[in-house]
Amino acid sequence: MTLTEFIAALDALGADGPARIAAATDLDSWTEVRNALIGRQSGRLTELMGALGALPKEDRREAGQRANTVKVALEAALEARRAELAAAEAAGGRALDLTMPARDRWYGAVHPVSRVIDEVVEIFRELGFAIALGPEAEHAWYNFGALNFPPDHPAMDLHDTLYVGDEQVLRTHTSPVQVRTLQQYPPPIRILAPGNVYRSDPFDPSHAPMFAQIEGLVVDEGVSFADLKATLSHFARRFFGASTRTRFRPSYFPFTEPSAEMDVQCGVCAGSGCSVCKHSGWVEILGSGMVHPAVLEAAGLDSERYTGWAFGMGPARTAISRHGIPDIRILYDSDVRFLDQFAR
Ligand SMILES: [Zn+2]
Repeated sequence: MTLTEFIAALDALGADGPARIAAATDLDSWTEVRNALIGRQSGRLTELMGALGALPKEDRREAGQRANTVKVALEAALEARRAELAAAEAAGGRALDLTMPARDRWYGAVHPVSRVIDEVVEIFRELGFAIALGPEAEHAWYNFGALNFPPDHPAMDLHDTLYVGDEQVLRTHTSPVQVRTLQQYPPPIRILAPGNVYRSDPFDPSHAPMFAQIEGLVVDEGVSFADLKATLSHFARRFFGASTRTRFRPSYFPFTEPSAEMDVQCGVCAGSGCSVCKHSGWVEILGSGMVHPAVLEAAGLDSERYTGWAFGMGPARTAISRHGIPDIRILYDSDVRFLDQFAR
């Protein structure tokens, strides 16, 4: 045998060995493979080692080193496979089946409502708004009284509001954060307050007893309704697209005067009318208005010096109209078949 032939035989063993080791499906077949490769009696490597002496003297050193490299690699592969097979047998299961298809991976994703909140927060952050948070179990004064609700307002009724004590409610809107912020910080104020709110509502296709809301508040000297319209129109174009049209309709909230609801042109039908916009061409997005002087005074501010505007929007409703979701409950069901659609 020449050195070239010896090396070719070693290479063949080095290439073929690992596949034979991997093909062993239990410890018995592993032992057979081991004996065939490196067994002392009839192993292929042992045979080649035996042939070393027949090589010319000057080639034996290189041949020996190469043979040793193949031996170390085969021993490592054998030991790794033996450990796998032993573990599989110890676990009582079948040996590892390398032909089995891999399991599908699960990808996490941001929930469609959280995604709306994140996008809204990002747009207002660019405009210099800070994030403010408040308690979900709130004193009734912050939820109603400080926000200019008259004492007999129907919203305070047990049918609409969840009470957790005589004077404590689960907040029905994020507006109490306005009052807490105004008490705590001097103007100028620009805040965004996302959070969960609670209503004593049935769980039906268009109502949920708990849902997210996003509140915005700006208070400074000289703030006008023009600032409100400009800022909220800018927001709508950033969020829904540069060509989005908006309109403001007069409305009523106890804590703003004047008040307006903002609609955007329906993105599904581009204003021509469809079931999403109830054939009006417009979708209501948020409520807004100039902060009522009584709210500024309740928080200890001089309403002759300061003015402000505020808005509140429901990110669940926005997600519903954005994705054409027929039932609000789907958003809170944690059904992975629904949620999986937003994963990629
Ligand atoms: Zn439409």
